[in-house]
Amino acid sequence: MSFVPKRPNALSRLSSFTPNAGVDYARLRNTDFGQGQHNHVSCLSPYLRHRLITEREVVDATLKVHSLAQSEKFIQEVFWRTYFKGWLEHNPHIWARYQVGLTGGLKALKSDAALQARCSEALIGQSGIECFDHWVSELVQTGYLHNHARMWFASIWIFTLKLPWEIGADFFLRHLLDGDPASNTLSWRWVAGLHTKGKTYLARPDNIERFTNGRFNPAGQLATYAEPRVEDSRIICEQELPQTKLIPNADYLLLVHEDDCLPETLLPHDRTQRGVIGALSTSLRSPLAVSDNVKAFSKGAVSDALSRVGGDNTIIEGEWADSLIAACDAFNVKNIVTAYMPIGPSAAALAKAKLDLERADITVSQIIRPWDRQTWPYANRGFFKVKKKVAKILENLKENDIQGRLL
Ligand SMILES: Cc1cc2nc3c(=O)[nH]c(=O)nc-3n(C[C@H](O)[C@H](O)[C@H](O)COP(=O)(O)OP(=O)(O)OC[C@H]3O[C@@H](n4cnc5c(N)ncnc54)[C@H](O)[C@@H]3O)c2cc1C
Repeated sequence: MSFVPKRPNALSRLSSFTPNAGVDYARLRNTDFGQGQHNHVSCLSPYLRHRLITEREVVDATLKVHSLAQSEKFIQEVFWRTYFKGWLEHNPHIWARYQVGLTGGLKALKSDAALQARCSEALIGQSGIECFDHWVSELVQTGYLHNHARMWFASIWIFTLKLPWEIGADFFLRHLLDGDPASNTLSWRWVAGLHTKGKTYLARPDNIERFTNGRFNPAGQLATYAEPRVEDSRIICEQELPQTKLIPNADYLLLVHEDDCLPETLLPHDRTQRGVIGALSTSLRSPLAVSDNVKAFSKGAVSDALSRVGGDNTIIEGEWADSLIAACDAFNVKNIVTAYMPIGPSAAALAKAKLDLERADITVSQIIRPWDRQTWPYANRGFFKVKKKVAKILENLKENDIQGRLL
């Protein structure tokens, strides 16, 4: 499976996968057949992460081929992504806490030679646990891992190798093409027993043997007990969800970023787009170096979006403020319109530019997709609350469609 960061590649993968999104997916999705053999899962995650295609498009295409009951498992997985994104919007301090934990973990390596050695060996795929070392290599080479491999990997990292979970999560974020602040952080927290408090995920040799189709069996090598990780305090702030700001009645500069590379489906039709600019925040995913594969994919995705919405492929990175102000001056506008930036690096980069933009009298309007707006209100507890509402959410979205646009 090679991932090309262009919308036609995303659409082509979607159409080749949809026949398998029903019974085949329900039966075989948990088996990791190995690198290059991930035919029973969609491998759409890098495209969904960058919204080169939307969750709505994926679900719509699936329901054209299968009933909701037949494709329930697959559609629920797509909603897991939206659930995690919404949950982090309700609890932004969890992302901040992860970053603090990561800094602490990296510091701990410096003062503990044994920990540092264990961590370095794991990161270069020399832990001595064959399956784990294989997944390190697959992840680094391809930018993708099967869901079950991610679960086993995280569990072995935390409970067998006894390494700080945040450093493992950071390794994923630096190498996964779909590396996502919400899905990644919350999945690692779930394995560690922090998301569903006290409930951990323990990787077992017989389960690995069965679901790798007999390729691996780390008998006698793995921890047999998973002690839940604990946090100092668990302040749930349950932030109010963001409101879609009204788009000012004026022409605008369109800002395209790596969390939504399909802005053309969102644009206000009663205003004129004067100019377009792309902005990357890939290097803010980690204090360490992000892989070249990830950088190239994110840049390619933004570039692909720019090719569809006009503009001269200007893509900024690092500090955004000066370039955004210069672009607004060049196009003689005081408004920036952009797809909503969920908690994570893009939102952080924009927050950093906020004061300078305000000083230059520039407003930023972020548009939230109806898909998120409909689902996120239910994403403040466990997934079950979202799951119960899937049919209703899909019904509501249909009612709100404008001219057949799938938002
Ligand atoms: C430790 C760990 C870290 C993870 N990190 C990420 C991450 O950074 N980014 C990411 O997109 N997913 C992450 N996942 C979730 C999941 O593993 C991937 O979304 C999935 O493997 C992607 O492969 P696919 O597209 O073939 O999935 P499919 O099984 O075909 O599912 C279709 C889509 O549903 C969504 N999805 C599926 N499973 C999950 C899930 N468990 N949680 C959230 N969304 C899901 C994805 O967008 C996926 O593309 C992580 C899981 C674990 C256990």
